[in-house]
This record gives sequence, C-alpha cells and structure tokens, in this order.
Amino acid sequence: MQKKEILYIVIPCYNEEEVIRETSKRLIKKINHLIDANLISLKSKVMFVDDGSQDNTWNLITSIHKENELFTGILLSRNRGHQNALLAGLMVAKKDADIVISMDADLQDDINTIDEMLKDYYAGNEIVYGVRKNRNKDSFFKKTSAHFFYKFMKKLGVDIIYNHADYRLTSKKVLDELENFNEVNLFLRGIFPLIGFKHSIVYYERKKRYAGKSKYPFKKMLNFAFDGITSFSIKPIRLVLNLGLIMLIISLIMLIYSLVVKFTGHTVDGWAFIVCSIWIVAGIQTLAIGLIGEYIGKIYNETKRRPRYIIEKNLSEK
Ligand code: UDP
Ligand code: MG
Repeated sequence: MQKKEILYIVIPCYNEEEVIRETSKRLIKKINHLIDANLISLKSKVMFVDDGSQDNTWNLITSIHKENELFTGILLSRNRGHQNALLAGLMVAKKDADIVISMDADLQDDINTIDEMLKDYYAGNEIVYGVRKNRNKDSFFKKTSAHFFYKFMKKLGVDIIYNHADYRLTSKKVLDELENFNEVNLFLRGIFPLIGFKHSIVYYERKKRYAGKSKYPFKKMLNFAFDGITSFSIKPIRLVLNLGLIMLIISLIMLIYSLVVKFTGHTVDGWAFIVCSIWIVAGIQTLAIGLIGEYIGKIYNETKRRPRYIIEKNLSEK
C-alpha cells in the first residue's frame, strides 16, 4: 500500500461569487471520495486564492472555511492576475502538501479527472498535465486564436503542451524547483516543462463556465499571449535582425539600380518611389525599436525584483 499523500487543490478566484459555492460543494464530494478510496490523506485541503476580488468572494471563502475545515483560503492584497495568484497559492500550499492540483474556480476543468491524475502521480510522474480533448465549447474566435498561439509558440521554440491551460498536478518536489524561478513576467505553462522531471498527460472534456463571465477579456488574453511569447523566446528580436539584413541588401541593389538608371539617362522623377521607400524603412525601424523596447521593458521589470504577490490574510494562520 502506497503512502497516502496530502493533496491541496489550489483555486485562484477573481470575482467568482457566483460559482464558489457550487465549486466547493462538488469538491467536498470529490475529496471525500478520494479519502475513502485511500488515495489521499485526511489532511488534504482545498485552497482558494482571492486575487483581490471586488465582489463578495472573500466573505464567501471565509464562511466556507468556517463551515468546513476542508477549505482554506488566502487573500492577496490586490488583483495581481491569474498567474501570480496561482503562484501565491502554490507556494503557500507546498508548505503543507505533498501534491498540489491547480484548477479554475468556474468548474470548466472536469474534477473527475483528478482520479486519473493521482493514478499517474502514484505511477511515478511528478507533473501531470490536464489537456482538453477539444475546443467544441469555445467560440470560433477563441478556437482559432488559441490554435494559432500554440503553433506559434512551438515555432518559436517554446516548449509548451498543446491545449494545456493551468489544470495540472505537481509534486512538492516540482514546486520547490518552481520557487527558484524568479521571473516577474510569469507564464507558468512555459515554466513547468522547463523544470522537467517525469510527466504525463491526462485528457479531459472542458466544460462551459458554470456561471459568471470570463475574467479573461480579449485584451487580457492578448497581453497574456504576448507575455508568453516574449518571456520565453528572443526569436522575434532575431527575426527583426534578419529583416534588417534583408532590407540592407535590397537597398544596396536599389542603390545600384538607381545609379544605372541615372547614368543611362533615364532620369525618371522617382518621387513616388522615394517616398514609398522612406515609409517602408521607417515602418520597419519603428517596428524593430518597438520590439526591442518590449524586451528592454521586460528586463526593466525583472531587475526590479518586486514581489509578485502580497498575502494579506491566510485562513490557516490564526
Ligand atoms: N482569475 C484570477 N485573477 C484574474 C483573472 C482570473 O485569479 O485577474 C481566475 C478566475 O477567477 C478563474 C481563473 O483565473 O478561476 C481563470 O479565469 P477565467 O475562467 O475567467 O478564464 P477563461 O476560462 O475564460 O480563460
Ligand atoms: Mg474559465
């Protein structure tokens, strides 16, 4: 008989008052079932991380915690975004847990997959990635943009798991390593594959959000994707460099061409041509500077080494 591990389920919540009750109700059943099946220890817990919600989320978390000690929670001092909230939860949870599963509050991730994740963990995997089977429930736009994003990341040489979001099981060993990754531009999906260790993948049906609206509006999603790319790959900078080289070669050819045209006597009024060139070159230069600026901005943020989250309250610490 294997040792019964302490499991913590970490759930970042931002304005999730509409779903938190239901989520905890379903998790009670699940956890009790896992304890009965001797898969996890009695000390297992569900940890809500309130990412500075403006609604009633924190009050709900505290009352759920009072009703049932299976639940605990931490409150961040303000909204820091999903990735930082998740990191805060993982770091606090790993103090008491042997294994941690992260999932969203909105019940999109099928909690019945937890059984399979545990099975893979006990089979010797340190990380078990939850991967959605398909994107049938997504809008056409989200489907295509997500597909493009994952393909693009792969092309850039970033090792991420296709269609894996943040539903995953990690062992304490992995989280101890995660602690050494000090970046401020956090893109956890890209970091876990970097950490390594033996891993496996479980597939699940991703459902519709149980209630409430997505906390990832288009702009946030775009920022997230851009952060993911620029935090993990410097290929875009190289691309610009290559583009610059090609431009240089083209302009040399153009120089020779214009000289030839001049000396063979065809003095055409090349006004349009010159104006066009100026615009193209200026455009490319601005683009390049912008891109480089983006990376410098990243460096700037990293060098400040500001804390990535601040915990205001922890229900488990009286
Ligand atoms: N979330 C968070 N902080 C934020 C935005 C989102 O903690 O600033 C949480 C949110 O409460 C949810 C999870 O991150 O538990 C995923 O967000 P959501 O379900 O809205 O994203 P989607 O599934 O639409 O991509
Ligand atoms: Mg969701």
